[in-house]
Amino acid sequence: MIRTASVLSRIPLAHARGSEASIVGAVARLSTIALLLAACLLAQDAPNRLAARAKGDTPLFTDLRELCDGIGGRPTGSAACDRAIAWAAKKFQDIGIKNVSVEPFTAKNMWLPLTAEAAATSPAKFNIRIAAAPMSPSTTAPIEAKLLDAGEGTPAAFAKLGAAVKGAIVLIHSAEMKTFDDLFAEYFRNGALLAAARKYQPAAMLLQSTRPRGLLYRHPISLSTDYASVPTAVISREHAERLARLAEKGDVRVRLSIANKTAPTYQSKNVIAEIRGREKPDEIVLVGAHLDSWDLGTGAEDNGVNASLVIDLARAFHDLGIVPRRTIRFALFTGEEQGMLGSEGYVARHKNELDRFAAVVIFDTGSGHTSGFYLNGREELRKPINAALAAVEGLNATEHVIDGIDGTDNFDFLISGVPNLVGIQDPIPYLPDYHAESDTFDRVNRKEEKATEAVAAVLLWSLAENPERPAKRQTRAEVEKLLLDTKLDQQMQAFGQWEEFKSGKRGQF
Ligand SMILES: [Zn+2]
Repeated sequence: MIRTASVLSRIPLAHARGSEASIVGAVARLSTIALLLAACLLAQDAPNRLAARAKGDTPLFTDLRELCDGIGGRPTGSAACDRAIAWAAKKFQDIGIKNVSVEPFTAKNMWLPLTAEAAATSPAKFNIRIAAAPMSPSTTAPIEAKLLDAGEGTPAAFAKLGAAVKGAIVLIHSAEMKTFDDLFAEYFRNGALLAAARKYQPAAMLLQSTRPRGLLYRHPISLSTDYASVPTAVISREHAERLARLAEKGDVRVRLSIANKTAPTYQSKNVIAEIRGREKPDEIVLVGAHLDSWDLGTGAEDNGVNASLVIDLARAFHDLGIVPRRTIRFALFTGEEQGMLGSEGYVARHKNELDRFAAVVIFDTGSGHTSGFYLNGREELRKPINAALAAVEGLNATEHVIDGIDGTDNFDFLISGVPNLVGIQDPIPYLPDYHAESDTFDRVNRKEEKATEAVAAVLLWSLAENPERPAKRQTRAEVEKLLLDTKLDQQMQAFGQWEEFKSGKRGQF
């Protein structure tokens, strides 16, 4: 705006000596040129204006506070999640965005937590802190049974206990979680635990919390939408150790009851806002984050902060009057925690449009420093991203990684061949609160999230404005090769997604 005003204000001065008519004519001609020049300068200036706005004070954290404190934890299918959906749609409308839609999708096997209680009854009586594991069945009546220490729950440990497991409550030890690899290891042992449960039939499984000082979190025991066969809960780290020490000396009995709300199918919704492109409105750049969360905390780092980021990015483009060449879609998905069900539903719903998706950018790792992007196997994305990020050079966001990510909302775009990026945000501050009681508003790193906003804004601008698309849509054969090259096929097998992809149920072509 400053450039426009200064260009226009110089015109009368430059022509003050001519006749009145020629002054008027010159001013009219020059005004046209000046306006064109101003428009051009404004377009060139868009990344700087977006970055400057992002670094300043914006409503991002007020929005987040409303979402986390006012609505709270919001598992998909819950009343809180429905409130969050309505809240987000209204946010986009209040910004002034004309195209806001709420798009339903149907998911199978609802799982919502109701109550989970446990206590040691012998040799000492004390209450035990537990949190039901998502996809755990309810107990039909309270279970009281002998506790068996099954070590780390390996197949060998179960085999050693043998027939004694049947009808017992088994305690599984866990190492303390320090890294992302530890977190993945906790997920990847699920398959072996569920297989052992089917084979040896314990009455219940208690999985030791990987976080000390009593902290509990939601750990989905099933990696697909199938329910587990045995009631399973995370038990506080210290209670698990006490029970294990008691069990070394003699018989320990534990009482346990878990109640969950389940349904064979349920509906949820994604919230989509759109700023139509000025020249190629049919071509789409999508920026997304999931709006749903687990319920023990209030879903601030996972992923309210990035849902609020997506809302504030829409506000930035709208309020600054920046309309890029392509359409930008701002997507808030639900069902992410249940296996990216919202983005899966979105991709299926928009399958005939996927050729026109220029790029998809997802944020889902809290508010730690953004150091770059996962390229998800697409090396050709590195150059255009770096060109875009030149506008925020000082923010050090160009350490991109070629790895493919399975586990957030880029996934169904990836297996459908759409160029996709996931922000790499420093996981160290994020990990201890992951799905935990402690994932609350106060955990958010405001300074880093504002830097992420600047990075996201200039990247979106560039992806939506550049005459060339950043990369083409891959063919099915190219996607298959990418999955093997990035070893994503192995993760997909662990998550029960490989068959869905092979059969064409998931991965739209
Ligand atoms: Zn998440």
